[in-house]
Amino acid sequence: MPGPAQSVPEKMQAVVCHGPEDYRLEEVITPVAGPGEALVRVEAVGICASDLKCYHGAAKFWGDENRPAWAETEVIPGHEFVGEVVRLDEAATARWGVQVGDRVVSEQIVPCWQCRYCQRGEYWMCGPHDLYGFKRRTPGAMAQYMTFPVEALVHKISKHLPAAHAAFAEPLSCSLHAVERADIGFDDVVVVAGCGPIGLGMVAGAAAKFPARVVALDMAPAKLELAEQCGATLTVDITQQDPVEVVKDLTDGYGADVYLEGTGHPAAVPQGLNLLRKLGRFVEYGVFGSDVTVDWSIISDDKELDVRGAHLGPHCWPAAIRMLESGRLPMDRICTHQLPLERFQEGLDLVADGTSSIKVSLIPA
Ligand SMILES: [Zn+2]
Ligand SMILES: [Zn+2]
Repeated sequence: MPGPAQSVPEKMQAVVCHGPEDYRLEEVITPVAGPGEALVRVEAVGICASDLKCYHGAAKFWGDENRPAWAETEVIPGHEFVGEVVRLDEAATARWGVQVGDRVVSEQIVPCWQCRYCQRGEYWMCGPHDLYGFKRRTPGAMAQYMTFPVEALVHKISKHLPAAHAAFAEPLSCSLHAVERADIGFDDVVVVAGCGPIGLGMVAGAAAKFPARVVALDMAPAKLELAEQCGATLTVDITQQDPVEVVKDLTDGYGADVYLEGTGHPAAVPQGLNLLRKLGRFVEYGVFGSDVTVDWSIISDDKELDVRGAHLGPHCWPAAIRMLESGRLPMDRICTHQLPLERFQEGLDLVADGTSSIKVSLIPA
């Protein structure tokens, strides 16, 4: 659709992955939108723990044995983004219902729509699993411009939000999917482990389901305070109190109905198994740096638990966008750092440190 002409430079700045711990800011050719695609000017891109894991050379990160031990080289990272549509044709307009000038987000996975999962609507488990920012076929958003492929899932989002807040739609959709996996009921006591970006979104999502209690666990008082603002009814500093004891006290000794794990810390797994009641539900969203050993008979013999995984944010983007647009989340405090693209290294370091930041975003010029 020929909208108001915006000039697009031939070259742009982008962060390019050359291998583990070798990301460089470079001048590259600005991508061109092919038939049915969109060219988008990136307004903000969040840095995620998974970006960091990739940066450090994580092996088999998305479960694909055939992948090299790091993100493919020559890939532009970045999968949590928002941008403005600058070019698209009529086919793209018809498919996505967006125009030049609209502010848009795209789901992090670009499904193939051919595999068994995609054909059953389980697109987030798509076999080829092309995620923006991890494969050459789907360059990410740590750049001034990016393209949305024909297969992408695209949503509009309000221009009234600060760009870094709008880009939070990606992690928030992931949190909400984990919450959906938990099948929360009104009488449930829900425990959320970890109050980073994913955990805070889980707290907000769980609170929106209005259960009896939402208990947030973390080691940082500032993050627990934020969890309260996101809807936690009780917060526990696990360096001060034993969360298993606290939860047992709350529940006449039975334990919690639901445990949402968003830390990826090995100790958070037995913690959850121990604080759940019999027939409770354990939802794992965390991604672990190493194997975790637990007593599996807690899952079978002791408690007959439902242990469920959660990955990405399928079917939760509209809700995540609504939640951001509603202003109910303390986004000014969640989005702690906005840096220009050239300071990407500082951004990665801030995420690695994790104590002084929650969500770090890059703002391309
Ligand atoms: Zn992410
Ligand atoms: Zn597929």
